[in-house]
Amino acid sequence: MLRLDRTGGAAPGNKVFKLRGFLDRARREGVATLVSFGGAWSNHLHALAALGAEQGFDTVGIVRGEPREAATPMIEDARRAGMRIIRLSRAEYRRRNEADFQRELLAGLAPCLLIPEGGASAEGALGCGSIAEEVRRIAPGGARVVLPVGTGTTLAGVAARLDPRFDVVGISALKGAFDLEGRVAGLLSALEPAGAAPWRILHDFHCGGFARVTSELRDFMLAFEALNDIDIEPVYTGKMLFAIDRLLREGRWDGERPVLAIHTGGLQGRRGYPWLDGDATRPRTGS
Ligand SMILES: *Cc1c(COP(=O)(O)O)cnc(C)c1O
Repeated sequence: MLRLDRTGGAAPGNKVFKLRGFLDRARREGVATLVSFGGAWSNHLHALAALGAEQGFDTVGIVRGEPREAATPMIEDARRAGMRIIRLSRAEYRRRNEADFQRELLAGLAPCLLIPEGGASAEGALGCGSIAEEVRRIAPGGARVVLPVGTGTTLAGVAARLDPRFDVVGISALKGAFDLEGRVAGLLSALEPAGAAPWRILHDFHCGGFARVTSELRDFMLAFEALNDIDIEPVYTGKMLFAIDRLLREGRWDGERPVLAIHTGGLQGRRGYPWLDGDATRPRTGS
């Protein structure tokens, strides 16, 4: 397992790789304010708040959900790091990629750099290339590299910097996100890598949808954490490991080929799932 959850300082996990290029650009262009979008449990906004504070940027998080909805621990952390939180109704949030709407939203914040939701961009994928360098160091002879997928940005960046001794398998955290393959292909062609590893995305391990949990996933995660001294969370890393376990157990994967799982972090989101820490009574809210 490549433990990105143990690297990245203030922002452990994959988000620091996706954000690096944007932070560098803001510095180059002398822009002091970084703005992005996300849900109330967003690992992306959590990382942006932490990195912005560390590197002297002002940050603004535009968060899905009415202002009257309770702040999640993610939002509280982000505010504590100095991020200004603007909440949008779900209807408004759906318009976040419309040019007119963005102009209105950003009018009061300019000059600022708007980072796409989840860091989804060629710039974000490029930064994930250094994850591939770590993969090569751990598995110089090649391996099946498995990682969780949200926007596909990390997968594209990793596959672009590997070669055919590797095959990259993404486990989609979303239900029915069949546009992901097209997005990854688009990012890969923007990066124009000299070579790349073959890659694919499996769509059967969403366990009911984004941030949802089934009893099978829950049982698997509790057993995994009891056996290994490794924290995971249900949105991304739990589903990835659940998929690996299933595929090997059912003989659908050749057990001889080494498997390298990438732990992409996201552990701040564990707080939305108190059953992971032995509390069966408090349900997750605000997702
Ligand atoms: C954001 C995130 C992902 C998904 O990364 P993409 O580049 O959007 O595919 C995977 N794992 C964790 C823990 C994340 O926070």
